[in-house]
Amino acid sequence: MNDLLILGFQAVQSFVFWSVVALGACIGSFLNVVILRLPERTFFKNARSVCPTCGVMIPFYFNIPVVGYFILRGKANCCGTKISWHYPAVEFATSVIFGLLYLKFPFSGWSVGSGIFEPAIFVRWAHAAIFISLMLAMSVIDAKLMIIPDELSIGMIVLSPLVAWIHPDLTLVGSLIGIAAGGGLLYGVAWSYWFVRKQYGLGFGDVKLLAAIGGWLGWQSILPTLFLGSIVGSIIGIAVMVIYRQEGWQSKIPFGPFLALGAVTHLIFGPEALYIFSGGQ
Ligand SMILES: [Zn+2]
Repeated sequence: MNDLLILGFQAVQSFVFWSVVALGACIGSFLNVVILRLPERTFFKNARSVCPTCGVMIPFYFNIPVVGYFILRGKANCCGTKISWHYPAVEFATSVIFGLLYLKFPFSGWSVGSGIFEPAIFVRWAHAAIFISLMLAMSVIDAKLMIIPDELSIGMIVLSPLVAWIHPDLTLVGSLIGIAAGGGLLYGVAWSYWFVRKQYGLGFGDVKLLAAIGGWLGWQSILPTLFLGSIVGSIIGIAVMVIYRQEGWQSKIPFGPFLALGAVTHLIFGPEALYIFSGGQ
């Protein structure tokens, strides 16, 4: 009987896992629409998906995440335009992230006796999944166009109190201090840079992004995010400077993706890192 129960739980586990992976691929497909249409302000223009080159309606079977790209062998069926590998990459990344997050936050219970559904763990999973999805969309847009849409960054800031209210580990005060600390700190840096160099080194998109990160992860996330983001950003920046022998790379490399990477690293590994640094206390 006990063995049968364990088998049952494992079946539920793997069913939920693969559902989460499939959901991730679909969310990735939606993120592609956001990435393409939000900066163009055509988000609500077409409810159905159309070819961005020739405007022909795309049948649903070519729109299956990841799979569709390989069925079409990277070329649009209607007009033969090459489809960017960014589309399947975003879909694949989102599905992998959703699956890995489920391994970290197994909200349907790993073992007998822990219950089939854990609401608190589900909220942690959903929070991380939505947060990382938004970070991914903003990073790709920033990398392509050097802008971070206000709809996403300010939208996240506005939703922060609601997120803090629902999430079991966040407090409203921690979230509001996070917005002020994140936004204030980068605003100060941007202002000082302008004061010294008389040019813009940091975009105000980055200021709003760090405020949003503080609002969704709490004030404790601000310094680790800035620290990780700056280190990785500097390494990439110096590498680009060496490879392309270009001066003034600071203005050509967006900071947003590195802030996002720092925030996601803190979100996933933050508690473990704190545990290690505090000597296992
Ligand atoms: Zn076409």
